[in-house]
Amino acid sequence: MSTVTREQTVVDSVEKRLYIGGEWRDARGGGTLEVEDPATAEPLCEVADGTPEDALDALAAAHETQREWAAVPPIERGEILRRAFEKIMQRQEELALLMTLEMGKPLAESRAEIAYAAEFFRWFSGEATRIEGYYKVAGNGAGRVLTMKQPVGPSILITPWNFPMAMGTRKIGPAVAAGCTMVVKPAKQTPLSMLALAQILEESGLPGGVLNVITSSSSGAVMEPLIKDPRARKLSFTGSTEVGRVLIAQAADQVLKVSMELGGNAPFLIFEDADLDAAVEGALLAKMRNIGEACTSANRFHVAGAVADEFAEKLARRMGELKVGRGTEEDVKVGPLIDDSQRSKVDELVRDALSKGATAVVGGERLDGAGYFYKPTVLAGVPDDARVLREEIFGPVAPITAFESEEEAVARANDTEYGLVAYVYTRDFKRAMRVIEGLETGMVGLNQGMVSNAGAPFGGVKQSGIGREGGHEGVEEFLETKYVAVNMD
Ligand code: NAP
Repeated sequence: MSTVTREQTVVDSVEKRLYIGGEWRDARGGGTLEVEDPATAEPLCEVADGTPEDALDALAAAHETQREWAAVPPIERGEILRRAFEKIMQRQEELALLMTLEMGKPLAESRAEIAYAAEFFRWFSGEATRIEGYYKVAGNGAGRVLTMKQPVGPSILITPWNFPMAMGTRKIGPAVAAGCTMVVKPAKQTPLSMLALAQILEESGLPGGVLNVITSSSSGAVMEPLIKDPRARKLSFTGSTEVGRVLIAQAADQVLKVSMELGGNAPFLIFEDADLDAAVEGALLAKMRNIGEACTSANRFHVAGAVADEFAEKLARRMGELKVGRGTEEDVKVGPLIDDSQRSKVDELVRDALSKGATAVVGGERLDGAGYFYKPTVLAGVPDDARVLREEIFGPVAPITAFESEEEAVARANDTEYGLVAYVYTRDFKRAMRVIEGLETGMVGLNQGMVSNAGAPFGGVKQSGIGREGGHEGVEEFLETKYVAVNMD
């Protein structure tokens, strides 16, 4: 079978319609939305372009199914997730190809995301049976305190394009485990992975109405009526801080329980005593995973003055070796950015830094030709007023600045409104603990360039978000605690 045929077969195998109340159906009015391959800027296919009325139908289905679904035994809810985990892994290759086609990341990274995404279902399949309250003697000895956990109710889940499947399973997994029904809206650039996931959950026995999927080109108009509808009880969003702020305001209308996984500006600290080669490899992973289009992406490298030049040179050598190209080619390590506006934003940040005195040790420009490619770039001597140190880059650009003391390193790391993740490289354990205690972030990678793990609480502080996904904490986001005061007189 030729490559073209295989790509087409994989795209053709996915449902392109809305999934509402267990039925696949066209958008009202029959509108469609074009999905593009960012490596070629050519159209891949069209999917249903959902309207606000479609979205309200989806919420109605979720609302009608909520009571029945909450009564399904936890072990059965867990088994559905476990079956879906198995099916995702059986189809890892085709799902990876689908993701690369709509999002651009290299195939090896898509395979890794599929495995990571599936892991959330395996993890939450177990968590479904570990939802528990407690019973205790009241402080005055007279009564008893009893707590029970109950599903929060119909949930609205909104996911971004950069991890089209993992950001979905990280929300759907705990919602299923907790006994919540849901309406999911993937990003318009990457609806196919979510539609494929819905098909897998359907085949795994998830009852109709529990999961409803709306694809749409007009996210604001379609989601606002849902967020303000009294039938919705929860909003879980992953995306930019800018949109997150708007959604928090909308959620205030019905006082929804909210979870927000927002933007980041991750500092990567390298101390003089660090294993520099290990730091370079960690930096490469933290910077280049997902072509730099990750909320956890290292956005700023703060390096001890004594080793800053050596680090810049070593990182530039490794970045310069990475092959850039279409993600479907096996040896490609850097795919295209998601679209032209993202590439222009990355280029603008690089131009700004260069104009203020930074040096491009490698890269520093876009690649000519079709697709939205940008050269892996290392910028040294980046001045404090450069925008690249303040704004989320979301591209393959590594800005480096030097520090002279531990205090300065921590102060620089914290000098941002974001607080998602930080990376620390040092061999001095006491220093590591001092620095980590001082960092204003929800997560820290200590001598490692990646923190993602289905069994760990992922999330940020400050303007990087509210709540945690994954770990034991993930399911709590979809539960309410009911306290019962028991009279023992
Ligand atoms: P985005 O523009 O905020 O969009 C995220 C999602 O929200 C998409 O589905 C988008 O739909 C939808 N959306 C946009 N405007 C909306 C509105 N007014 N009402 C309802 N929904 C709306 O973010 P993005 O560019 O897709 O993703 C990149 C951002 O996500 C980065 O800032 C990154 O740091 C963040 N992120 C955070 C985490 C984390 O866990 N903290 C993980 C991954 C990504 P359409 O695109 O279809 O309009």
